[in-house]
This record gives sequence, C-alpha cells and structure tokens, in this order.
Amino acid sequence: MPNPRPAVVCYPVATLPHPDMATLAAARQHLTQVGEIIVPPREAGAFEVPAGHFFRIVSIEGPQVGDLNLFNATDLNERFFSGKTRALHATHLTTGHRMWSTLPFLRPLATITRNTLDWYGWDEDGGGVHDVIGTRCDPYTHHLLSGGDEYHHCCHSNLSRALATARGLDVRDAELLVHDVLNVFMCTGFTRDTHQYFMKASPVQPGDFLEFVAEIDLLGVLSACPGGDCSSTHSSDAAQCHPLKVEILRPTDAFLAGWRQPARNGYSRTHGVG
Ligand SMILES: [Zn+2]
Repeated sequence: MPNPRPAVVCYPVATLPHPDMATLAAARQHLTQVGEIIVPPREAGAFEVPAGHFFRIVSIEGPQVGDLNLFNATDLNERFFSGKTRALHATHLTTGHRMWSTLPFLRPLATITRNTLDWYGWDEDGGGVHDVIGTRCDPYTHHLLSGGDEYHHCCHSNLSRALATARGLDVRDAELLVHDVLNVFMCTGFTRDTHQYFMKASPVQPGDFLEFVAEIDLLGVLSACPGGDCSSTHSSDAAQCHPLKVEILRPTDAFLAGWRQPARNGYSRTHGVG
C-alpha cells in the first residue's frame, strides 16, 4: 500500500552516549593476549572478560556462525538486550555499535571495535552480517516444526549447558537465563515479499574476527551453531560445522587505569507509583 508519509527513525541516537572510537582504536594497537578458548562445533564455551579488556571471536578452520550471550559477570540478571540494541542501532551490528543490557540496567555491556566483515555491507537481498534480528536455534521450535523430534545441540541447549557448567547451575535454571543472541558471522535478512527471516551462506573465512571492548566485567557464552555457515539447515547434525576461537586481550596498564565503567540507567524505577 503506498504511503507517502515519511519514515521517522524511532530512536534518534544523537543524545546516546557514544564510545570514544579514537581512543579505542589507539588502545587496540597495544593488546596482549591473556587467554583463549576453543568452542567445539555444536557446543558452547564460556569465558570471562574484565572491564576494559578486549575480546575477539575468531573464525578458524572454516565458515561457522556463532551465537553470543553476554552477562554482567557479577549479576546474571543483567544480560544482553537484543531487541533494544536492534531498536537503537540496526538489524545488524558493526564497528561502533554497542551491545546494550536488559532493563532496568540499560547500559552498554560491550562495544564493537573491529569487524573484518564490514566490507559486506548490504547485499542484493537486503542481507547483512552479525544480526540481532534472529533469536537462537532452540529445541522447542524444532520440536514444534519437526513433529516431535528431539535435538540436543541447538544453540539454546549449547548455551544452557555451558552456562550451567560455568556457574554450577542446573541446566533447567541456566536455560531461563539464556537470551536472544548476537548472531556472529551469520548472514541474514528479511525476504522482500513476505518479510520472513532468511539466512544465506556466511561470507566468513578463517582469520576473520569480530572484536569488542568489555564495558563492564563480562561473562560471555558462545555457541558454534549446528547450522555451520547457515547456508542450508540447522537444528540437526546435517551441516558441516567448525570450531570458533575466543581470544581475551589485555590493553596497556595506562588504558586500564583510565577505564570508567558505564553507570546503570538512572531512571528512578518508580513507574509513577509513590
Ligand atoms: Zn544455532
């Protein structure tokens, strides 16, 4: 239906606190690796990143999509808020965008400092890389769509097991904390005719990485999706899958000495009551 009225951006971000990208760009020239994990295919791994440190999700061995959850390492109630991040920034994230936390905290958990796939931009189908429009593949939707089949290596289950192990939780309690992800390296969009969520083969190659600075002390959990490069299928063992690497990187002492963690949101939380 034609509608000549102008589209208005819901959240003009001129007043949003912006990261100091020049300082971050200088800091990332002097990083020392202090830790790493390898996430096996169809599994997830957990890692901790102190505030002011950097971390990189690196493609190794072959094209592979990763599903990322982020938590405040000292309060798991504060976790990544995919929907508001999408509303504030865009459907897909790149350098300078931030991963915002859930209400009532609503502050940056991490800021993207380097995206080696930034050249991809938007393709002819409107697709892009690193989306916050998908959720995470999960065994409940699979059960629903497959007529009752059980598959235990969807990203939701992988993230639940890894979080349970990292924090000594029952997997049924851990899964309640697992949330919508940043789909690292995944190439996605909405079809032009029916506006359905689509995926296509990720352009990621070994050596590509997505890099962040941790705004506060973080617990990250990353799943190597059973969809592999997500070119055809997921929620099964059919796709070819590869491991992912996470590197933890320490900047200089001088940079860390000046690091200021963002304050949690200042809204009073009275909601008009009292
Ligand atoms: Zn997945």
